[in-house]
Formats: sequence, C-alpha cells, structure tokens
Amino acid sequence: MIDQKKIQEAAKLIIEAIGEDPEREGLKATPERIGRMYEEIMAGYSQKPEDVLSTFFTVEENSPVIEKDITFYSMCEHHMLPFFGKAHIAYIPDGKVVGISKLARCVEVYARRLQIQEHMTAQIADALMEALAPKGVLVVLEAEHTCMTMRGVKKPGSRTVTISAKGVFKEDQELCDRFLRLMKAES
Ligand code: ZN
Repeated sequence: MIDQKKIQEAAKLIIEAIGEDPEREGLKATPERIGRMYEEIMAGYSQKPEDVLSTFFTVEENSPVIEKDITFYSMCEHHMLPFFGKAHIAYIPDGKVVGISKLARCVEVYARRLQIQEHMTAQIADALMEALAPKGVLVVLEAEHTCMTMRGVKKPGSRTVTISAKGVFKEDQELCDRFLRLMKAES
C-alpha cells in the first residue's frame, strides 16, 4: 500500500528544496526513516474497522459503556502535521458489546490516516453503529493541532473539540448532554 520509494524521494526533495544538504551526515538516512515512519503512522489505510470490531459479546442487560481518555495521534490532511489528544466513546448497546481494547483499536484505524478531526469523529461513530447496531453512540474527540499551535495563529495548548451523536444520542438532547458531562475530561 505504502510506496516506500516514493516517500523517500519526496522527503529528499523537501530536504533539497529548503536548502539543506541531503547527503550530510545527520540527514543521510532521514528519507529512509521517514519512509518507515509513514508505514506506521499511515497504517490505517490498510485496516478496516470490521477487522477490529468483528468479535463481540452478547449481553442481556444494555447498560451504557463509556470509555474515556483514549490517547490518539493523527495527521491533519491540510498541513500533514500531527494533531493529537483524547477520544471518549460512549454507547448504549442493543445486545452486543465489544472488548474495551477494541474501541481504542477502532480509533487507531481512523487516526492513522490523513485526517480532519470532524471526519474522524463521525467515522468512529459510524463504524460502531455499523458493527454493533447499538441504541446510540456518542464520540467526543479533543485534540491539539500542531498546525495551529506551532505555526499560524500559534495558540499553544488550545484544543479543538468535536462531537458525533448517533441513534438515541442524536434524538434525545437531554440524554446526550448527560453523557457529555460524564465523558468530560477532568483536565
Ligand atoms: Zn492543519
């Protein structure tokens, strides 16, 4: 999927374009390192949410599940700079639940791509709706965008919050608000 050779050529071109010497000691292996790094940070393109959400358990009682503070790192598609933060996921099952670690892996599938935070939030919610057909899903992402904090408007520490509400969370504003309070990070 990932074309190592192309990434390495591109990285070398950038190094040259900014006026650096791609042959100097410290930079010599950089294109190769970037190639290997992209293999890892763009791994989401070769994964599907079904791969991680296909194993579920059947439950009698549909108690809500809330998983908070799932750390993620992604890359903004506008600047190809990292944005990173926490994902919080809540769902009300309808007979099916997944292991807690699968929620984190589902976040990874979408984080390891070029992304915008709004899309990523909705994609995670849609994937859970699809895989578990729960009564509702609520996904909150809060992230720092380095394209905003290390350049441009330069507001260090500022965070962007995005929310995606599906099913009962979309229909019932009061329920949605109650869960948003529960999911709110303590920071
Ligand atoms: Zn950006």
